[in-house]
Amino acid sequence: MRIALDGPSGAGKSTVAKAVAKRLGIIYVDTGALYRSIGLYVLRAGVAKDDREKIIPMLSDIKLDLSFKDDTQSVILNGEDVSSLIRTGEIAMYASAVSAIPEVRAFLLETQRKIARENSVIMDGRDIGTVIIPDAEVKIFMIASAEARAERRYKELIAKGEECTLEGVLADIKKRDNDDSTRAVAPAIPAEDAIFLDNSDINQEQTVERVLEIINEKTRN
Ligand code: C5P
Repeated sequence: MRIALDGPSGAGKSTVAKAVAKRLGIIYVDTGALYRSIGLYVLRAGVAKDDREKIIPMLSDIKLDLSFKDDTQSVILNGEDVSSLIRTGEIAMYASAVSAIPEVRAFLLETQRKIARENSVIMDGRDIGTVIIPDAEVKIFMIASAEARAERRYKELIAKGEECTLEGVLADIKKRDNDDSTRAVAPAIPAEDAIFLDNSDINQEQTVERVLEIINEKTRN
């Protein structure tokens, strides 16, 4: 079974997908981690996040692997586990910028497709239902208002000890939404046959239940 879970940043896709994967005994794949790892590589190299001329040739020096153990995904960048290092606001902005480069998306395509071919997955991203697994059994496009998402993300960052303001987080979310949905390649738009799920006014548990219901309805026949 392949479940494509797409939607904008901060809609709670990862938390929900993790819970759904556990309930169904399938693998949760966080594809954003791949873009974030490339973002980290570019940042470390001291290259500007929109400098395509420099970034594209760097791809041949990058080897990325995802590994799955005890319900947890690790991302390995040239042999180094960078799973925790990529979870910052700065890396999110780098990830968003590099993800608009067609060569970067092409570079990550087969890694994602291979995992979906070889496993039952719930895959979270932006173009899973449109590009990566267009024939997925279930496609969900999960949304929440920018304000609801900013508030959740702000609380997470504060809990992790990152310095930020709610206004700053909201501005970053709006910028990423705009960049992700208007880029020329694989914009974060719903597949034609995706089911919309707006969780602005429901909590995490209710969202998980709703996703499980959708999966049930879709796979019943
Ligand atoms: O999901 P996450 O916030 O980790 O993604 C970081 C960035 O990577 C997003 O803002 C988006 O631009 C990009 N991304 C993407 N396609 C995916 C997953 C993430 O373009 N499948």
